[in-house]
This record gives sequence, C-alpha cells and structure tokens, in this order.
Amino acid sequence: MTFPLLSPAYHDPHKYPQGVAFQDGQYLRMRDAKVSVLDWGFLHSDATYDTVHVWEGAFFRLDLHLDRFFAGLEKLHMTIPFDRGQVTEILSHCVALSGHRNAYVEMICTRGAAPDFSRDPRAATNRFMAFTVPYGSVANREQMARGLRVATSDVVRIPPKSVDPSIKNYHWLDLVRGLYDAFEKDAETALILDTNGNIAEGPGFNVFAVAEGRLLTPEFGVLPGITRRTVFDLCHRLNLDVSVGDLAPDTLKHADEAFLTSTAGGIMPVSSVDGVLLGDGQPGRITNRLKALYWDMHKDPTWATRITYPGDE
Ligand code: PLP
Repeated sequence: MTFPLLSPAYHDPHKYPQGVAFQDGQYLRMRDAKVSVLDWGFLHSDATYDTVHVWEGAFFRLDLHLDRFFAGLEKLHMTIPFDRGQVTEILSHCVALSGHRNAYVEMICTRGAAPDFSRDPRAATNRFMAFTVPYGSVANREQMARGLRVATSDVVRIPPKSVDPSIKNYHWLDLVRGLYDAFEKDAETALILDTNGNIAEGPGFNVFAVAEGRLLTPEFGVLPGITRRTVFDLCHRLNLDVSVGDLAPDTLKHADEAFLTSTAGGIMPVSSVDGVLLGDGQPGRITNRLKALYWDMHKDPTWATRITYPGDE
C-alpha cells in the first residue's frame, strides 16, 4: 500500500488535536482542514455524518456505520463521488497516516455551496470530507469507573417530523441547552425529552434503563445508535430481555441500573439521575457485564476491520 503525502504545515493560531483529514482529494494535517463559511453545512447545519471508532488498530462495525451514512446521503438527496469501498479506503488512509491505534473517525457530507449563492439546494456541490483524531469518550476514566451523574432536562429533542433522527446530524442546540441545564444541577451530562415527555437521548448518546434484569431503551425521536444496536446483539447472545419503547423520567430514576451508549465511549455506567442514586450508586452488574463483552467483541474479526499502518507490510 502507498501512502499519500501530507500537505505542508502553515502557521495557525488555533490548537487542534493531532490527526489527519481528507478533503478535495488530499490528505491534510488536522489543522489544515477547512470548511468555507459559505458551505450550507456550516450556515444551515445542512450536513450528515457518521462516526466510527478504531480500537487497537481495527475499525469496529464499520459496515453498519457506512450503511447509516449512505442511507443518510440518499434521504438528504446528497451525492458523493465515492462508493463504500472508496470511503473505506479514505478512512483507512486517514487512520494509517495519523498512526493512531485508538481513534475517533468521522465521515461527513455537507450540502456545499452554490457558486451564485442560490437558495436552491440542488445548485450546491455536495462536499465529502473525513478526519481522524485520537479516540475520545463521553465519559472520562474516573466517570467510567464510578458512573456518570446525569440530569434530565425539560428541553425537547427536535421532533422527528422536523428532522429525521435516523439521519445522523449536527442539530445540537437542544442537546447543548440540555447540557447547560445539567451543569446548573451539578450533573455531568444530560438526557432530554421527546415530544411526549419521555426520555429521548443525550448529547452524543442513547440510554438504557435496567430494572429486574430487563433492559429498556427509548424508541421515538432518537438516533438508532450502532452501540445501542450492539447492546441488542449482546443481549440476544446473553439471553437478556431487552425492549424498545417509552422510557418515562420516573422509570429511569427508579431503575436498578442505567447506562449510556456511544461510539465515543461504548457502554458508560450512570450512577445517579437528578440526584437519585440508582441501586447502590455504583455501576450495575448487567452494565459491567455488557461493557466487558462489548470490548471483547472488538477482537472478533466479524465486527473488526483491521487497518494496515505504514511499516506493517
Ligand atoms: N444519539 C446522538 C444524538 C448521537 O450523536 C450519537 C452519536 O454520536 C448517538 C446517539 C450514539 O450513536 P452511536 O452508538 O452510533 O455512536
């Protein structure tokens, strides 16, 4: 395999994580990757994306992330000049060039800009880009060990009739409002509501409640997360009862245990909701079991796609 050259460095006052991006046919240092201020992705949040992680040198469930990304493109009437195989190659090159063995990898398509500033989205040239930075998690090491303090917020997640949540998107003003609510309540992260007053999701994650050995996760108005899907697969293997449906804030507060799921962090225990301790306030038994299995599955070649780094051959 040959590795394309990186662009030359130039001075930039901003600090960026170490990483590699792909834009307009070029591999760039993270700090050199730029988006036009006229791009509708920036001006109107008119974009879709997906995030996959690399763990110990292999992508985890890349096929599912590509399925979701390409389905989103179709629903948004966007096209990119690459097929799945080419996107896989671009993402692999980004990671290989970065040298990161544990990485956070995004593929993005923005509406782009129209040359005459037209308001017609069909006049815009869609723009594909990708990047990789070191792996990051919603929960830090300490929070993973003791469980996150979560607060519910009255903020309502943008309704599915407005924005289809199955298209992974950057409509985050509701989630960020929820975060500020949570910080005011001395919590570390937030869960916001669906239009019926049930729990929807949080900034970058889905949620599961566990009561009497049974798991429940919201169905309405949420991104169908790939980590959530992996929890379904693991429950199936373990013969655990898992269902999707309405999760009322009170049901969550009275659960024996709860956890959050995201590509950025995997399965993350919750220790309290709105100041109410779940169980004994420690990460729960089922949560811990699923978490251990989740990371074990990263070694299984059915779910892991190995990356070739420079010097590997
Ligand atoms: N919900 C939202 C709003 C997200 O942004 C994410 C991930 O970024 C998730 C849920 C979790 O999805 P996944 O498990 O595919 O990372």
